[in-house]
Amino acid sequence: GKVLVIGSGGREHAIVWKIAQSEKVQQIFVAPGSYAIQQVAKAQNANVDVKNFQEIVNFCKSNNVDLVIVGPEDPLANGIADILTAEAQIESNKDWAKSFMDRHKIPTAKWKAFSNSNEAKKFIKSAPFDALVVKASGLAAGKGVVVASSRDEACTAVDEILTDKKYGTAGETVVIEELLYGEEVSVLGFSDGSTVKAMLPAQDHKRIYDNDKGPNTGGMGAYCPCPLLTSKQLQYVQKDVLERALDGFRKENIKFVGVLYAGLMLTKDGPKVLEFNCRFGDPETEVILPLLDSDLYDIMKSCCLGTLQQLELKWKQNITTVGVVMASRGYPDSSSKGQTITGIDTVNALPNHVVFHCGTALKDEKFVTNGGRVLIAVSWAPQLGIAAAKATQACQTIRFDGEQHRKDIAHKGIARAIL
Ligand code: ATP
Repeated sequence: GKVLVIGSGGREHAIVWKIAQSEKVQQIFVAPGSYAIQQVAKAQNANVDVKNFQEIVNFCKSNNVDLVIVGPEDPLANGIADILTAEAQIESNKDWAKSFMDRHKIPTAKWKAFSNSNEAKKFIKSAPFDALVVKASGLAAGKGVVVASSRDEACTAVDEILTDKKYGTAGETVVIEELLYGEEVSVLGFSDGSTVKAMLPAQDHKRIYDNDKGPNTGGMGAYCPCPLLTSKQLQYVQKDVLERALDGFRKENIKFVGVLYAGLMLTKDGPKVLEFNCRFGDPETEVILPLLDSDLYDIMKSCCLGTLQQLELKWKQNITTVGVVMASRGYPDSSSKGQTITGIDTVNALPNHVVFHCGTALKDEKFVTNGGRVLIAVSWAPQLGIAAAKATQACQTIRFDGEQHRKDIAHKGIARAIL
């Protein structure tokens, strides 16, 4: 088969790396891709404009591409295929997503949506919960969420979103939620429209600094499997979150094919959904796929063909992965480009290590930084603590000016595994 992967970051690097291992795959095209992704066996850049969906369709036809995997959220939300428009709402429209969860009894935070700021503020003042989260309903690249420490702060957030239009049309509606407390875990599932199969749970680390301090980022590291979710809770997520969502889609005539991502909070009343995404998560994908023993091409094809039920997902046993992101100076507020990176080959040559490139470019035959998140060093070992130590060590071998990474990736999981 021939595959087209859309995207250029660490997640797409991991997808290409994994799917290249399939004997059934002859060729992998990537758009826009990156120099690093092109180095993977069988992979090459496709000269297509990813914003031009007709061009992508034409490219697939003339190159006999039989599977397209879309990494980032933007093309999905923009309706890369008409059929995806409805399913992308689950990610791109929080108001719709919350109503959907309520209609299908999927556990989530209590909420209400408003497009009128006075009504929103009136609700905040009399809300039955003290601590609130205010969200722009549309896609705001993870920035449109305010965890308010007081009702006044929540009202200010409403004004910024609805009146000052801080996020433009993404903020025509606000969603106001009760604040939940607990650990965050991601459970991704493959779906063919009628069957959904969960992958191993993973935990992302959103904040820039150790101990979850500082501003939110696109993710500073992840590990898998995450032991914070018990096997009983995982079963609950399979039944009461993923399967209910799939049933819900079916009842509403939405054919959900691909990856359904549930961002969960483990509250004292059980796991609750913070958000659904309609794609692979980043950086979770980079730590989940190295543990997958089954052929990713077979899985994705069976999602498209509706034959997922017959397929058994096989995972490597007694192995854990840890991925530590190396970011450039200034991230997440800004990023610096063009710094020479050394040590990538040394880490890639070590057993049980792989480096995925999130934002690098080639200059004078050398890799240089080319974005906020630059790369992710992934390591695996039977024990989480050892995998974490090795991934962190790898970040000392790889060097570039202004480099920053967290030193505590997987620490919560390690603490739980010891208990
Ligand atoms: P992402 O960048 O993950 O796509 P998003 O813009 O879709 O984010 P959410 O996932 O809804 O927004 O929220 C972002 C973050 O805010 C969550 O990962 C979580 O840490 C926090 N958060 C959101 N809702 C709540 C809630 N009800 N209670 C506590 N924390 C919350």
